[in-house]
Amino acid sequence: MSTDDATDGEQHDEEAGRADEPLLALEDVEVHYDTGTGIERYLSDKRVKAVDGVNLELEENDIVVLVGESGCGKTTLGKSAVGLERPTGGAVKYRGQDIWEAKDHPRGADIEFREIRRAMQIIHQDPANALNASRRVRAILADPLKKYRTELGPQEREETIYRYLEYVDMTPAEDYADRYPHQLSGGEKQRITLGRALLMNPDVILADEAISALDVSLRVEMMDLILDLQETFDTSYVFISHDLANARYLAKRAGGRIAIMYLGNIVEIGGPDEVIQNPSHPYTEVLRWSTPSMDPDVAMERIKEKPPVRRIDVPDPQDPPSGCAFHPRCTKAREACAAEDPELYDAEETEAACFRALDNHEYWSSQELEDAEGSGTAELGVGD
Ligand code: SF4
Repeated sequence: MSTDDATDGEQHDEEAGRADEPLLALEDVEVHYDTGTGIERYLSDKRVKAVDGVNLELEENDIVVLVGESGCGKTTLGKSAVGLERPTGGAVKYRGQDIWEAKDHPRGADIEFREIRRAMQIIHQDPANALNASRRVRAILADPLKKYRTELGPQEREETIYRYLEYVDMTPAEDYADRYPHQLSGGEKQRITLGRALLMNPDVILADEAISALDVSLRVEMMDLILDLQETFDTSYVFISHDLANARYLAKRAGGRIAIMYLGNIVEIGGPDEVIQNPSHPYTEVLRWSTPSMDPDVAMERIKEKPPVRRIDVPDPQDPPSGCAFHPRCTKAREACAAEDPELYDAEETEAACFRALDNHEYWSSQELEDAEGSGTAELGVGD
């Protein structure tokens, strides 16, 4: 690490010393949207609960991978986490400072909103849209430096740009700095967006499906680069992925966690091996079942298997089911599941929002729902 980057590292330490608080804390975060347009918006009482009461903490040098089907709220939650989406309820705190309080009431804030903006960066799914096609790489990378590192003169700025291009393996840096985005491959464009995010010396980066637009052969290379630089820059990441295999790779290599989302909530969270090999939430089992296997024998067996859901269709988020939102699809559902909304409970090896994690819940004495497969207790090791 160069002297400049070492200085950046000291900045992190000073910030960490401000308060004995997690780097990032989501407290009961809700993002509810009005539906319809015009007058309908006011007349309708229906709201989409894109995120509905999520609690999550991120520490220094931490990684959480949010996984779930399209429309489960993972992108909305990720954007709320880094201050790009204002929650309609709950709080998002950076080092103990409510980030929207810092924006609305700057005089009372311990940390300026501008500083929070710098500390939280995003890498988008499609790097082509994230880069201005009419500007050279040098100009694209100079913008954030001019805004946030005003102490740098033109010469130092140029040297910093070259150094960060080298960090993201784009050498010779002078050559790449002169190019326009259309002169770069998809992987190179994504490296530029990663370098641009790191230039801000961020504490948290939201990587929203950041590798899904790349060729399969480049994905592992990009994930490795991101994780190598995570160690170099002491950055925490919130990754968003619909792919359980990629989530496992990222979380396992970095010692992070996987958080499974369903209809606006985290329904299971834990270490990658625990979540994938010994899930305690029936929805995680569905995701695991639907992840393609590279083993042809396993793939053939899967084709013959019945999917571990009662219904394939995802419920309407404007009219979510009562109780546990997964109950209309859950093969383990009982009447108690339709009446009460589970929280995250300590399960066997993870935390899971399922009554089956609780030995004494009335779930165990209530009736199975029609076409549920029964209440076998072996998988979770708990029961009547
Ligand atoms: S609480 Fe009931 S419906 Fe929900 S996941 Fe657990 S068993 Fe299934």
